[in-house]
Amino acid sequence: MTTHTGKVALPVRVLLALMLLSLAGCPRPPVKHDPPQTRTPAPPNELRVRFFAAGHGDSILLSTSDGHRVLVDAGRFVGGDHLVRRRLIPFFRKHRIQKLDAFVVTHPHPDHLGDPVMLRQHVAFNAIHTNADGAVLLTSLTPGLRKAARKAAGQGPPVRIVTLAQGDRLQFGQLHLHVLHPPKDAPPPAQVTSLSAQNDRSLVLRVHFGAVKLLLTGDLTIRGEKKLLATGQPLFAHVLKLGHHGRGSTSNAWLRRVRPRYAIATCGDYMGRMEKVCPKLAARLKKHHVKLYRTDLHGDVVIITDGRTLSVKTHPKHIYRPRHLK
Ligand SMILES: [Zn+2]
Repeated sequence: MTTHTGKVALPVRVLLALMLLSLAGCPRPPVKHDPPQTRTPAPPNELRVRFFAAGHGDSILLSTSDGHRVLVDAGRFVGGDHLVRRRLIPFFRKHRIQKLDAFVVTHPHPDHLGDPVMLRQHVAFNAIHTNADGAVLLTSLTPGLRKAARKAAGQGPPVRIVTLAQGDRLQFGQLHLHVLHPPKDAPPPAQVTSLSAQNDRSLVLRVHFGAVKLLLTGDLTIRGEKKLLATGQPLFAHVLKLGHHGRGSTSNAWLRRVRPRYAIATCGDYMGRMEKVCPKLAARLKKHHVKLYRTDLHGDVVIITDGRTLSVKTHPKHIYRPRHLK
């Protein structure tokens, strides 16, 4: 039986002669080039973290260029300010943000909880992730807001209340949020009645985006920091949002563990009082070579990162000026 392979064996010398001939005399066949690569590599995903200038109050928006959005706190609903109406809704409209992956409330004080009812009328979210249960959240609202919340509850899909504690994790694409505090066995929020103890029960989130880390600390003070330091969890972060608006927080021991490059203080007017960063805390930051940004001086502060490098932009035109100082 014969097998045909389609190839004819030629003596080596004949082959060489044919090759030389083809190089010397024959017209060269047109050379086909592969078409140039037109596909450009996708730009690296980017995270922007905006610390809204809200006077003495917190509101932080994390947005990735591939479309994930997490809002941590919604600013103030007291002292003549209403951050949701004044800044958040116009910002969401301008940037066509219609949905949040998560709305996190570090603790239900009025300078963090804002007006969740109006917020939900303009931007969709399915749940409020917080350190408390629904009953505590409801009693934290002003009577007017509580009434509005009850009315709104009967009109649209229900908002779930998700209680977070140490060890819980949220993930949206490349954006990871690790909950470091409060511990799971902390006293239930309904039993914590003093304002300072409620501050020290704030959610503390460590944000991971590639190699870049940010630490968001709600209103944690030095007492809460001590408890968190004792857990031995990793705390290192390139960016630290100072606990409790830069007052009564951020000990030397805390700075030695977190080792931030930048610190953000969400401070300024609170019901007619200017609540500035405590001078001793500012001195500690200087000693530890930490660059301080203050929303009362710099306006909105925006961290931009591709997960490897990091830059900071400030927007002084957004500095919050209370009505009585305008
Ligand atoms: Zn606060």
